[in-house]
Formats: sequence, C-alpha cells, structure tokens
Amino acid sequence: MTDIAYREHDVNNNRQESMSFLEGVERMVDRATLVAGLDPDTAKVIKACDAVIQIKFPVRIRHSVKVFTGWWAVHSTHRLPAKGGLRFARHVNQDETEALAALMSYKCAITDIPFGGAKGGLRIDCARYSVDEMREITRRFAQELARRGFINPATNVPAPDMGTSYREMSWIADTYKTLFPEDVNQDACVTGKAVERGGIPGRTEATGKGVQYALQEFFRHPEELSKSGLDDGLAGQRVVIQGLGNVGYHAAKFLSEEDKVKIIAIIERDGVVLNEDGLNVHDVRQHLAETGGVKGFPGGEYSEHGADALEMDCDILIPAALESQIHAGNAMHIKARLIVEAANGPVTYEADEILRDRGVVILPDIYANAGGVTVSYFEWTRNLSHMRFGRLQRRFDELRGMTYLGALENMTEKQAPPGLRTEIVRGASELDLVRSGLDDTMRSTFQEIRDTIKRNPAINDYRTAAYVIAIRKLAQSYYDLGLVAPPTE
Ligand code: NAD
Repeated sequence: MTDIAYREHDVNNNRQESMSFLEGVERMVDRATLVAGLDPDTAKVIKACDAVIQIKFPVRIRHSVKVFTGWWAVHSTHRLPAKGGLRFARHVNQDETEALAALMSYKCAITDIPFGGAKGGLRIDCARYSVDEMREITRRFAQELARRGFINPATNVPAPDMGTSYREMSWIADTYKTLFPEDVNQDACVTGKAVERGGIPGRTEATGKGVQYALQEFFRHPEELSKSGLDDGLAGQRVVIQGLGNVGYHAAKFLSEEDKVKIIAIIERDGVVLNEDGLNVHDVRQHLAETGGVKGFPGGEYSEHGADALEMDCDILIPAALESQIHAGNAMHIKARLIVEAANGPVTYEADEILRDRGVVILPDIYANAGGVTVSYFEWTRNLSHMRFGRLQRRFDELRGMTYLGALENMTEKQAPPGLRTEIVRGASELDLVRSGLDDTMRSTFQEIRDTIKRNPAINDYRTAAYVIAIRKLAQSYYDLGLVAPPTE
C-alpha cells in the first residue's frame, strides 16, 4: 500500500498566498531582472500587458438566453502574431488570463519562437452543455473575437488549452473562414486543429511529448542530475502526476511506455489512484473518460484526498492540471526531488522560494511545457506555406538512402539486416520532422538554461535562468524598437 500523509486541510487547501497568480509571475520577472542587472524601467515595459479585452455575449440555450464572459489578453506584440491557448473553465478570470499571456511571452522568447504572448479564456462549466451547445457558444465567442481582430493569422492566433482541443480549434477556424473567406491564410488563424482540417500531425500530444523530451534532456547530464539526488536513468523513477488531461495523459503515457518510469499515482478532480507497481495510464484514462473520475479504477487503490498525494513520497512530481497547486501551505511537505511543471504556474512564487531553499529541483513551466507552442509554430508555418513538411524531399531522401545502401552492400559484399535496411532507405514522414524539431527545441533550450547558470554564479535554479534568458531577449527586442534603454550583458 502506498502511503499518503493526511494533513488537515482547510477549504482553500491550506493556501497562505499573499499574491495573485499575475503578481507571482511579475515577482519572478523582478527576481530575474535583479540577477540580470536589467534596468527596472525595462522590466516595467516587459511586465505590462499590452491589451486585454473582455467580451460578454449572449447565446440562446434551451429556450432562454445566457450571457457568457470571455477574455483575450495580449501581453506582448514585439513579434507577431501574439500566440496563446484558449481556456474554457469555470474559474477563468482576467488576472489568470493576463498571467498566462505573460508566461506565453517568456515561453516563446526562451524557445526562440518568433511570436508575442497572448491568452484567451471563457468562463464556462463545459460539463453543463451538449456538444451542439458548445459548438454554438464557441462559434459566437470566436465571432466576437475575430471581428475585433483578436483572431487573425497575422496578429492573434489561439491554440488549445485546458477545456479545449482540436474540436474547438476546428470550429473556430471554420467561423473565421465564414467571416473572412478571401483570406488566403485563413487556416493559420488558429493552431491545434484536427489534422484533416489543416492541423499538423503531432500537435495533440506535443506538450506531453515536450515534457518527456525535457526530462530525457535533464537525465542526459549527470552534473544536473546530481543536483536532484536522483539515480541515473529515467527507467524505474517513481512518478506522481496531477491531471490526466491532454498534457498529463500524453506525458504519463510516453514516459511510462517509452522510458519505463513507474506512474505510482494519478491525481484527478475526484481524488487519487495509487499503485506502487505502476499504473496503466491508458486504462486509467479510459476509466476517467467512462466515469468522469479515478474512483473505482480496478488497477489501483483509491483515496479521495487528491491534494495530499502531491506530498507523497516519490522521485518526480508532474503537476499537469491547474495553477497554484503547490503553494505556501504545502511546499514544505513536498517529498519529490524533481518537479516538472507540465501545467502553467502550478508552483506559486512563495512555494518556489520554499522549494528552492529546500533544494528541490524544478523544470519551470516556461520551459517544460513549451512543446505545445513549438509545434503550434510548425503548424502555423505549414499553414502559411500551404504545403506539408517533407513533401519536396521525402522521396529524394529515400532514393539517396537506397544509393548509400547499395554502395555499402557492394563494398562489403554483405546484405544489411532487414530492419536496418528499412531505416536507411526511409524518407522522414511529417510526424518524424515535427518530433525532431520539437526534440531539438527542448534540448537546445535546456542547454541555453544551463549555460546561463554556468555564466552567472548568482543563479542557481532553472526558473530564474529561464526568466533571465527570456527577459534579455524581450529587452533586446524592445530596445531595437526604441522603447527601452540598451540591455546590459
Ligand atoms: P485538459 O483540460 O485537457 O486537462 C486538465 C486535466 O486536469 C483534466 O483531466 C481535469 O479533470 C484535471 N483537473 C482539473 N482540476 C483538477 C484538480 N483540482 N486536481 C486534479 N486534476 C484536475 O487541460 P490540458 O490541456 O491538459 O492543460 C493542463 C495544463 O497544461 C494547464 O495548466 C494548461 O495551461 C497547460 N498547458 C497546456 C498546453 C496544451 O497544449 N494543451 C500547452 C501548454 C501548457
């Protein structure tokens, strides 16, 4: 049986936070500004959200009119389009939307994705509406945003986030097309679409895949690994994951199936399911889809105390649900040696300070979950080029592979084994190219984070390093535009 220590939690899950999500993100920028020796006025410009719109729109549902509230926040436009996920959830508000838009700016900057940062949100309890009603609500919201220029291939491009998927993105793309049929780049107005509706293979699972690549990269560097005190190799690491939605499911699936980590706990809205021998992620997801929760899953032990499981004994904790899950009230009790922030903002500013003091290593959100926007960038580029990646060179690469193979077999007078033969002559599929670009982004970004720490002895954590890189790049852009003083090295 797996141990969870049950502590008394108040209704707010013992949160003792003194600042909002947005204030927490701004404090992280302030911390990095100090370390980077950046002009505080430049930091003010970087932190400011350029624009935010609140939209209230009516939809007739089951013979009565309901008025919905949504937001689109544009944090930075030094590069265009501004890019960000569209969140559909009950708790959505302006503070959260602005905080998430700011994270998008920093995320795009550290991964060298030439986008500004934005975020959208609709306050809605999706479970209360049928598919037809959701389609109507989404289309109305998209219409309101698009006719004001807040959905547009050149300026504002949403993507899936919590509560939305390829389904909503395809509805939004279709709404945009009916409004602007003459726009030749209409497919690029939104990313994360279904593949058959202009999407790209590999986008659905991109964020979870990126989490896997980030972890693989971390485990490639013994000196980084030693900071966490974890053993060599991902195989056998005991992982707790919170949230088995798009990001959590794909991260858990790839890590357990390909890297052989043991998923010993999955925390969902209704509690946690535990199995010290490792849970079958696919089966838990199936159970979740059928019943709406993890309770009653036959392959593990159930407890209703989901929040307590964040504190259970494990090697790696992957929060992949909501923000502010690890806070001043529980940070002292976290036992994981490594936290991988698959969600946006799962660790509050105050918790981050506590965890840093305790030596817990954190792969921060603006790096760890950047896989989604990375592949969105590929999708947007593909939509603008009106051609799938690899179309021109795939058969050429195959021919070249066959030529190499023929030459090799002639010279050695031996035949290559069939598996190797297939690999050598195979031209890359579009999914191969997407995965390769994603892996490269996650590796090179981590290396830049490491280099920043090596060059600056005042930095000893990945989050501060990631923010330093991001704000330096943003400061340089704003300086190039004549908006701020020259950045110092
Ligand atoms: P999702 O809606 O697909 O999944 C969220 C999951 O979390 C659901 O299974 C839900 O039941 C669960 N959940 C909700 N509240 C919970 C709670 N209190 N305790 C435990 N589980 C809870 O959303 P997603 O797209 O997987 O996004 C998850 C996080 O990842 C968000 O912070 C989002 O901003 C971030 N993110 C998503 C993407 C993306 O491409 N979808 C990209 C980058 C970051």
